[in-house]
This record gives sequence, structure tokens and C-alpha cells, in this order.
Amino acid sequence: MYDVDTIRRDFPILERSVNGNRLVYLDNGASAQKPKAVIEAVTRSYSSEYANVHRGLHYLSNLATENYEAVRSVIQRFLGARHSHEILFTSGTTEGLNLVSYAWAARYMKPGDEIVLSVMEHHANIVPWHFLRERNGIVLRWVDISDDGELVPESVLEAVTPRTRLIAVTHMSNVLGTEVDVEAISAGARDLGVPVLVDGSQAAVHMPVDVTEIGCDFYAITGHKLYGPSASGALYVREDRLDEMWPFMGGGDMIREVRRDGITYNTPPHKFEAGTPPIVSMIGLGAALEYLEHLGMENVASHEATIRDYVLDQMEGLNWLDVQGRAANRGAIFSFTIAGAGHPHDISTIVDQKGIAVRAGHHCAQPLMERLGLTATCRASFGLYNTRDEVDRLVEALEICHDLLGN
Ligand code: PLP
Repeated sequence: MYDVDTIRRDFPILERSVNGNRLVYLDNGASAQKPKAVIEAVTRSYSSEYANVHRGLHYLSNLATENYEAVRSVIQRFLGARHSHEILFTSGTTEGLNLVSYAWAARYMKPGDEIVLSVMEHHANIVPWHFLRERNGIVLRWVDISDDGELVPESVLEAVTPRTRLIAVTHMSNVLGTEVDVEAISAGARDLGVPVLVDGSQAAVHMPVDVTEIGCDFYAITGHKLYGPSASGALYVREDRLDEMWPFMGGGDMIREVRRDGITYNTPPHKFEAGTPPIVSMIGLGAALEYLEHLGMENVASHEATIRDYVLDQMEGLNWLDVQGRAANRGAIFSFTIAGAGHPHDISTIVDQKGIAVRAGHHCAQPLMERLGLTATCRASFGLYNTRDEVDRLVEALEICHDLLGN
């Protein structure tokens, strides 16, 4: 049974107040709060199990290595990958997407080759491809969304030409909450012989993910949104792609042998993990994913679906609130503006006075803002611990904003 009140007690920060009010944390899309299981794993690791990994023959180094490497199979299970060596440790999605760009795309893409991406991508899934445009002369082919904020798989596949070398799309928009049918995109892309990279930063937090079922080539996740520490994350790379990739960063651990006149590389995944990694952050991520596994991602998704439907119901009644995106399949992420209320920053400042944390700005999605004809929105993004009461608190605070700012 999913008991949200019990679950909330796992998150010490939810007890605190902000500006004299009990905290209502609705900035989960930016970063999620941490359960005790993660805080305790990090504390245990630093206080009694810490040493560098992969290097020592002493007891603590072996213990730290064991704890750290065990996280690979936790992530493998969480993402439904076939093999643990298909899981590369990263510091987050940004590193994962840059890794694909430097280690794979830059190796194969020639001037005039194309990458297909949607206008709904986060900058982390845009800027690395702009680097390739500037440096290698590749072409970005943009796919539009519908007015409801849907990304239609057929329109992605129609953008593929004989020069397309990669499709790079998000699994869930961090602005509109739109869920993208990446399974259909991957199936169509496979028929066309084009690899697919999925940005799973948001989707993996809100729903069960199985990369083998999706059938994509690359899938990136970020730990701090998954209730784990910052500087943790993973990139799934399907086995057959691993051998096609150059190493990414060079340094310790990723080599087998270094001579004056040459080097040989370690085998994947270590070939792509240079230097001392964020050891304790990854151990904390392991604890976070085990916590999610214990709750059950199906249960998390169904709890969040009730919250999403309640938010939609409540917002429906506010005719001065302009909610962006009406996708049929969506997560509990809502971007909105208030008619005549000026900059969304003002809204977030006012609701903050009520102890409610939301985000305002372009959400690192400027091409999407341009598509929506906006420069910024206010965003409330819900997580596994949010409640209907908190939705009510948000709605009350928005009513105050409307009274103060709206027309
Ligand atoms: N992609 C999406 C959809 C995101 O929401 C984010 C973070 O906001 C990122 C990528 C980047 O993640 P990180 O900054 O953790 O690397």
C-alpha cells in the first residue's frame, strides 16, 4: 500500500518550514529531496567505509569498490538493461549526453550529416549537438510539437533523411510534462537504421523504464532528480554500440597500459570512466534506486497520476491561469503564466512567501519557449511525496498572486 504520509516521514527536509509556513516542495523537476536511506548511505560511506576505488589492495579500498560497483547492477535492474557493462557511471545527464556526443557522434559524423531533435529538448540535449554543428559542420533538424505539446513519433521519423545519423529526444518534457512515445520512435528508427538517444532525466523519475523494451541505443539519467545525490547518474549504452565508441575523458582507470609510444584501453564500462569518480554520490544513488524499487515505480507513477489529475482539475477552475501543454500522456509537471501578472519570477517570489518552492524562468528550454511564444513560465513539478493538500496550498497562493498581479 502506498501511504504518502508514511513516505513523507522518510524525507526529513519536508518537516521544515520556510518563511513561517510548512515547506511545500514543488521544484522536483529541478532536483528532488533525499530520503533517509540516501542520507544514511552517504554518511555510512564517509564515516566508516570510505577509500578510493579500483586502486588499493587494502580492506577499505576493496569495500568501497564493492559498494560502488554494486550500484551498477542496481541501475541495470532499474533501467531493465541486459548487461551491467551497458551502464556507464556519469555525473548526470549532462555528462551522459556529452559523452555520446564526444565518444560516438563526433567519431562518425561528417559535415552535412544530420541529427534529428525536437523543439522540446532541454539545453543539455541541444548544446552538445550545437558544438558538433560549429566544429564538425553537422546539421540540426528540428521537429515541432503539436499545439497540445505532443511530440508525434511519425513527425520525428519523417524528419529522417539519408544523412541522419542520430535521433536525440526527451522521454518527458521538463517544461510541459509531455510523455514521448520513445518506443515507437525507436522501433521506426531501427527500421530506418538510425540510432536513438533518449534523455530520461525526467521520465525515469516518474514512471517505470525498461530500455530493452524501449529499444533505444542510449538512455541518460541523472541521480539528483531520482532522490539521490548530485554528481551521480548513468548512461545506458546498448552493447553493440559500446565497441563503436571512442573513449571520452582520458586518465586513470580507463586504460589497460600506458607506454611512451602508445596506450591500450580498459574494457567497457571502465573505458569510459576516467579518474577518481564521485564514489559516495554513486553509492547514494544506489540507495535512492533501491528505495524507489522498494516503493515500486508502478506505485509511484500511479500516486503521481492522481496528483496530476487533481492539479488539472483545480487549474481548470482558474480561468486566469494559462497552463502550457495539454498532452494526453503527461507527468505531474505544469508550466503556467498568469494573465497580466508580469514576469513569472514575481509569481515564484510571492508563492515562496507562503513556503512553496516552484521554479520560474526558461527552464533550460529556450527553443521550446520560442515555440510557445514566451520567454519564461512558472513551473510546479510534483514528486512521490507530494499530496493533494499541497496542491490546495499552491492554488491558494496562486489566487493571491492573481489578486496582487493579475488583470
Ligand atoms: N534533460 C532534462 C529533460 C532535464 O530536465 C535536465 C535537468 O533539468 C537535464 C537534462 C540536465 O540534467 P543534469 O543537469 O542533472 O545533468
